[in-house]
Amino acid sequence: MAMRLAIVGGGLGGLTLARILHLHGIEAVVHEREADRAARSQGGMLDLHPESGQRALAEAGLGEVFRSSARPEGEEHRILDPAARTLVHHTPRPGSFDGRPEIDRTVLRHLLLDALPSDAVTWGHRLVGATPRPAGGFLLTFDSGRRVECDILVGADGARSVVRPLLIDAPLTYVSTHVDLTIGDADRRHPELAEMVGPGNLWCVGVNQILAAQRLGDGSIRVGISLRAEGRDLDAYRSKDALRALFDGWDARLVALIDAGDDAPTPRRVEAMPVGARWAHQPGVTLLGDAAHLMPPVGEGANQAMLDAAELAHELVAHPGDPDAAIRAYEEAMFARVQPIAEMCARVQAMMLSPTAADDLVRFFTRRPAEPVGQ
Ligand SMILES: Cc1cc2nc3c(=O)[nH]c(=O)nc-3n(C[C@H](O)[C@H](O)[C@H](O)COP(=O)(O)OP(=O)(O)OC[C@H]3O[C@@H](n4cnc5c(N)ncnc54)[C@H](O)[C@@H]3O)c2cc1C
Repeated sequence: MAMRLAIVGGGLGGLTLARILHLHGIEAVVHEREADRAARSQGGMLDLHPESGQRALAEAGLGEVFRSSARPEGEEHRILDPAARTLVHHTPRPGSFDGRPEIDRTVLRHLLLDALPSDAVTWGHRLVGATPRPAGGFLLTFDSGRRVECDILVGADGARSVVRPLLIDAPLTYVSTHVDLTIGDADRRHPELAEMVGPGNLWCVGVNQILAAQRLGDGSIRVGISLRAEGRDLDAYRSKDALRALFDGWDARLVALIDAGDDAPTPRRVEAMPVGARWAHQPGVTLLGDAAHLMPPVGEGANQAMLDAAELAHELVAHPGDPDAAIRAYEEAMFARVQPIAEMCARVQAMMLSPTAADDLVRFFTRRPAEPVGQ
């Protein structure tokens, strides 16, 4: 009987894994809790790095489609101070794909979904339990009451992974509070804000807080507010008035980004796993992406999730009939690769929400290549 491989979570990591396995004739079923692909906004833009996210897409046979869907101009970034003075303005070479072109998360997820057979993802199934079977493999139980058996279980179920506790008890630490707002149809409705944000990213850096804005391919602007973690009550940030109060004294053009938000703000806690978290190998089960190594969100999480997927797929293809050898090889290489990246993310995160963030960030973006990050 063919090996039954279950991937829990149809985010960027889980879908990349399913797609590469599919290309190599290995069937896998993705179990996703959301009702369908449009159930939830997938968030803003991502920049895909050549050595990780872009490499994974190339292995998924989607390098070309990525190039036609990505927005290299989205790499443009501007850093302002609270008085709206420009500290850094970086413009990429026109049409250049040399660096880290941006792509809307929704576009990227659709690109992966479109490349899979329609029955590869079972929507509307939230995993609630995974019980090891005496003969190996797992019995998966979903909130719908559905039960499924599998031989290999891959937890690609994100920050609050249900699969993770089978392998590791990793306490999550509270990294920051993040609040999102969306400004739809920005060019027409708020041309002055569209002009200020430009085609890419804008960061306005204060003391222990950042007001950021990002241009999306659909003409909207996504505003993100990051606040240092200080035992905050999320409910306190569900109104624009409360947010405005945080930015008291900032230039009115910046605060206008909050006023222009279409809906009520949505605050959330951003969390991270301990740096260097690893587990002892167990047969038939592994993790990838945020489930394996939740890091502060400074531009690596999705890239590493996709690279995990490509590397796990590579090992499974290279070890036909011996999935445990494949999982072992994947885990050892993944732990070694991710640890220094998680350390760097923790450092950059601390820098961004510190009292000296503006100076540090300017140095970070204007440093000569020989200078180490975050020094
Ligand atoms: C504010 C913010 C900004 C970020 N910006 C960037 C960036 O610029 N660049 C970057 O590389 N990374 C960024 N990240 C990190 C990135 O979003 C994650 O690292 C990435 O999405 C991880 O992919 P994943 O596939 O592991 O998990 P996810 O994308 O979280 O996908 C997990 C999937 O599993 C599903 N799921 C969860 N639980 C269950 C369950 N019990 N049963 C079934 N399905 C389940 C979810 O619905 C989801 O579809 C950012 C994160 C945040 C919070």
